[in-house]
Amino acid sequence: MSDPAPAGVPAGLHTIADREAALLAPYAMHSVDSQGRRHREPEHPYRGPFQRDRDRIVHSSAYRRLSGKMQVFTGEMGDYHRTRLTHTLEVASIARTMARALRLNEDLVEALALFHDIGHPPFGHAGEDALNDCLADEGGFSHNRHALTIAEELESRYPHFPGLNLSIEVLSCQAARADKSQSGPPTLLEAQVVDAADSATYAAHDTDDAVKLGLVTLDELSQIKLVRECMRRVQERFGVLDEAMLRKSVVHELVDCQVNDLLRNSAARLERFPFQAADDARQDHFAICFGDELASMKIELQSFLYDRVYRHPDLIQVRTDAQQRLQRMFAGFFECPDLMSEKYRRRAQRVGARRATVEYLAGMTERFCDEQFREHFA
Ligand code: MG
Repeated sequence: MSDPAPAGVPAGLHTIADREAALLAPYAMHSVDSQGRRHREPEHPYRGPFQRDRDRIVHSSAYRRLSGKMQVFTGEMGDYHRTRLTHTLEVASIARTMARALRLNEDLVEALALFHDIGHPPFGHAGEDALNDCLADEGGFSHNRHALTIAEELESRYPHFPGLNLSIEVLSCQAARADKSQSGPPTLLEAQVVDAADSATYAAHDTDDAVKLGLVTLDELSQIKLVRECMRRVQERFGVLDEAMLRKSVVHELVDCQVNDLLRNSAARLERFPFQAADDARQDHFAICFGDELASMKIELQSFLYDRVYRHPDLIQVRTDAQQRLQRMFAGFFECPDLMSEKYRRRAQRVGARRATVEYLAGMTERFCDEQFREHFA
């Protein structure tokens, strides 16, 4: 006969601790070992701490606004390609697959993946660079640090504390993303899986989007060893395909071969280490990574995308225009803070007018940003 459920757990339901003990590896981050939250809250009767983190992120306004922010290509270029939100969902999906295969904490991985780009301003890295320049004398702006500001200060959803009050684990993994120079033990395996999934995802979807938008052809991409290898496998399996189906199949293969390589490379090494807890793997500096051969093929693809796609004249133009608009808006809102929402006018008293103005701009979707520009500064 099983034990009665603990207080607060509806009869017949198992606790998250039982579930994790049965499913997760010893080196995974188990919910019972969580350091909790900055503002103490009672535990939820049947949702684990990282499940609650994930839910809080999904219900936040910064998360919803990711649908109005670009990944690489703007809305003016069509509606096939990824937005920051669909990129985030692809990362979460691929990271969960990796986590499940390695018996890591899927809830934590999902929370970290859904959170990882939440601090992105409008207009991608171009927007980030422009806002960073606006704060050059005050410590700069980074989307990774801004994610923490959103989670700890800017979101307002609960009566008793500011921010989302996420678990210490989610916040410290994000803090490590924000400070790559940070010394000391690496982050949890779950955070490493999310980084790997991010890299696998954008390598595949930027290739897809760039070909679909006609910035490069599959033929040109076949100079790249990784793409050539994927094409060979697709042709072996399906024979001759029309161009659109070939593109889609190559993209599937790109995801598949990266995920397989990461799992093959990491699972075998994890087997050899007798880690008994998440902290053992961290203290040992265990790295979840792609094998050397795939890692160097990824670098080759990445530099091709950099030269031929991210620096394509059409994108450079979008980038430059967006940066000029953001700089004008920064100067304009700084001069006339009354044009900003009340929340950010009040925030200026805490963090200074420059930073509050940048935070206001960083929160905007591209549509709202363009509208504000036309209304006040065009
Ligand atoms: Mg990302």
